[in-house]
Amino acid sequence: MFRSFITDRRRIPVECPVCKNAMIVLELAEVEIDYCTDCGGIWLDAGELEVLLGDSRQAEQLLGCLKIHSNYTEKRRKCPICLKKMQKAVVGTSTPLLLIDKCGRGDGLWFDRGELQDILNRAELDKDSKIQKLLADIFPG
Ligand SMILES: [Zn+2]
Ligand SMILES: [Zn+2]
Repeated sequence: MFRSFITDRRRIPVECPVCKNAMIVLELAEVEIDYCTDCGGIWLDAGELEVLLGDSRQAEQLLGCLKIHSNYTEKRRKCPICLKKMQKAVVGTSTPLLLIDKCGRGDGLWFDRGELQDILNRAELDKDSKIQKLLADIFPG
């Protein structure tokens, strides 16, 4: 079993949990996020989410509205940090259900292409928040 060696910085995902390719680190708005250029997936750890939202209350709110979902058809993915299978979590109550992957140990969250924007749109965050700018940089147009 291999995993990233421990340094004084945050843990870096071993590989994309979807397509198994190496992920790149994007440094934007003073935050490092891990991004897969092949499938467009994004890995965020809990601390990064907080910094991106610029407000710990918003981060808590966003995380607090996640409900673990056991009746799903999506394939379970491995956490890119601890390599254990992640849980499926439902965001909010609106339909169609928006499912994201969440590490049961709390390492972070995995968003497929478009899911993060979708969540932020539903959460009706401030348009000036760091995360909105960040996403506009990553996904122009
Ligand atoms: Zn990928
Ligand atoms: Zn994990």
